[in-house]
Amino acid sequence: MSATSHETDRPLLDVRDLAVSYDVGGALRKRPLAVVQDVSFEIRPGETLGLVGGSGSGKSTTGRAILRLVEASGGSIDFDGVDVTAMGRTTPLSYRRDVQAVFQDPAASLNPRHTVGSAVTTALRRHGIGSKAERLDAAASAFERVGLARSHLSRFPNQMSGGQLQRVAIARALALKPRLVVCDEAVSALDLSTQGQIINLLADLQADTGVSYLFIAHDLGIVRHISDRIAVMHQGRIVEQGRAERIFDHPQHAYTRKLLAATP
Ligand code: ADP
Ligand code: MG
Repeated sequence: MSATSHETDRPLLDVRDLAVSYDVGGALRKRPLAVVQDVSFEIRPGETLGLVGGSGSGKSTTGRAILRLVEASGGSIDFDGVDVTAMGRTTPLSYRRDVQAVFQDPAASLNPRHTVGSAVTTALRRHGIGSKAERLDAAASAFERVGLARSHLSRFPNQMSGGQLQRVAIARALALKPRLVVCDEAVSALDLSTQGQIINLLADLQADTGVSYLFIAHDLGIVRHISDRIAVMHQGRIVEQGRAERIFDHPQHAYTRKLLAATP
């Protein structure tokens, strides 16, 4: 949310001239297809950057490059002063803890045979955090913080609603005390009132912890109330970025105006 006390001038994340391409065309006629080009933006501690644009514009690919799920073919991604594109094959555990993700479909990242509480305790255990009892306590307080009851810890994913599962995904991410969370269409599949609840929850958690968000959505209306700044992507490039109010009140690029016209 705007101007929290956590904001400082030094960027936490500094993306410079990022390029990503995918190999397409099959084994015999394989060629790289550039889907992200010349993408540059910064995110300061405690700040939210909304990344918006139409389907296929390269938003998820940008998020995946930051999460190191896809390799950059050019440019740099500095996190706290370290270029993560130069980290080599294995991602350091500290980076995997500092940078968490919440995706559109929370069920996809939850084991249907494990309780949702164990999703949180397992994440903590993987990072060597706490004793077994401490991890249970941490999971219970993370659940409480995201508005889930302690009794929900022993539920299975298919016993919860989409909004509740998204709260589990947020609890798991936040339990690791990340510095940045990439929220990729994290509320896009939810009904309007649940979207509002989850966005308010994310904003509250940010005010408490000073975490930063890269908040990706195809819909400008969704990012409006959580973003300090907004970057608009079109065909693999950022066509415009600025403070959220400026983007809404004085859009400069024709594509931004088109997106705005389609926003209820
Ligand atoms: P967005 O999240 O904005 O909808 P994406 O980053 O998912 O966009 O996709 C950008 C472009 O890259 C699209 O044209 C998409 O089809 C293509 N793309 C995404 N993932 C792959 C992949 N694994 N292999 C080849 N092309 C891909
Ligand atoms: Mg996407």
